[in-house]
Amino acid sequence: MLSLLSRRALTAEHQNSTINAVRFENQIAVVTGAGRGIGHAIAVRLASEGARVASVSRTEANAKKTADEINAARGNAAIAYAVDVSDHAAVQKIGAQILEDFGKVDILINNAGVTRDGLAMRMSIEDWDTVINTNLRGAFNFTQSIIRAMIKQRSGRIINITSVIGLIGNAGQANYAASKAGLIGLTKSLARELASRGITVNAVAPGFITTDMTAGLSDEIKKTIQAQIPLGKTGQPEDIASAVAFLASAEASYITGQVLCVDGGMVM
Ligand code: NAP
Repeated sequence: MLSLLSRRALTAEHQNSTINAVRFENQIAVVTGAGRGIGHAIAVRLASEGARVASVSRTEANAKKTADEINAARGNAAIAYAVDVSDHAAVQKIGAQILEDFGKVDILINNAGVTRDGLAMRMSIEDWDTVINTNLRGAFNFTQSIIRAMIKQRSGRIINITSVIGLIGNAGQANYAASKAGLIGLTKSLARELASRGITVNAVAPGFITTDMTAGLSDEIKKTIQAQIPLGKTGQPEDIASAVAFLASAEASYITGQVLCVDGGMVM
């Protein structure tokens, strides 16, 4: 069996970084929206540091793709689950299934999210509901599905992926900004509710990250946003995964109810 130090050295060599290889050994992480983009990067990162992962996505194909990728690197480390996070009853069933399959949940990452942009005066109520129900209700649904188990084990990490838009607002994104600001309120309330049970609850607020979600924006909008980023470049999904891994780790055990902006300095 490899010693702790040699395992760390091996992983560091593989990943060309100083990542502590065993931060999440014997831990179970649930990542929603794990099929693509930021959620995919988070799932892969937590697995690379020893976690076993429930890869949750709306589509079975994408949930499975991430699980397969993790399992190819480390057998039996991931299981795929397909569910619409906005469906309360379906999520309670999936949460129970995850608890049965893995025996516990240590880390919950509420990352699944969508946009349906448009000016408020023209926004359809369907677009309002889709965004609020996916981004905000979805996080509440998943939290409710595993929270009893976390309370019982008297430990846990919940990390909600909000957005800088939830802090500063954005013309054309009233639904999205409201959902992300709501997530911050949810994060702080849960942090207060669950602190005495050894559970921390934090939010990560990405700025402009290169994923499918931002791929459709015009070059002009991309250029305008980039000009507002002091570090002068857009972020990558791995930048968000690094912040999430820190908040999920033991090193962040005295941090709760916080919003960590990972945005190249956009909001300060
Ligand atoms: P993305 O590439 O569009 O991926 C979104 C993921 O969410 C997909 O895996 C998708 O599932 C899943 N999803 C969407 N609706 C769902 C539903 N109803 N039920 C279950 N899963 C659902 O987006 P992203 O850029 O990675 O964004 C991830 C999170 O970061 C979102 O909450 C987003 O608001 C937030 N964020 C992103 C940025 C950015 O610049 N990209 C900035 C700030 C915040 P399928 O793959 O199965 O379709």
